[in-house]
Amino acid sequence: MKCYVCAKQGVDEKAVAICIICGMGLCLGHVFKEELLVRDVIDWGFGEEKIAYPKTLPRFICAECKLAMEQRKRVEKK
Ligand SMILES: [Zn+2]
Ligand SMILES: [Zn+2]
Repeated sequence: MKCYVCAKQGVDEKAVAICIICGMGLCLGHVFKEELLVRDVIDWGFGEEKIAYPKTLPRFICAECKLAMEQRKRVEKK
């Protein structure tokens, strides 16, 4: 697969990753790597415990999807 962003600009560049959301092939220069927290809510019976584990899930994403996700995070904060 080739990098979609590079291909659009007429550049021939191999893809090293694929955007998990839209499936676009991306080169090292165009891929974004995000770390997702692995969380659990455990119900102990006398209360809930929220846990965020130390190891995160890597997620490869393109610039367009990153923008789309970030706009959503901003909305959720309100
Ligand atoms: Zn590229
Ligand atoms: Zn994408």
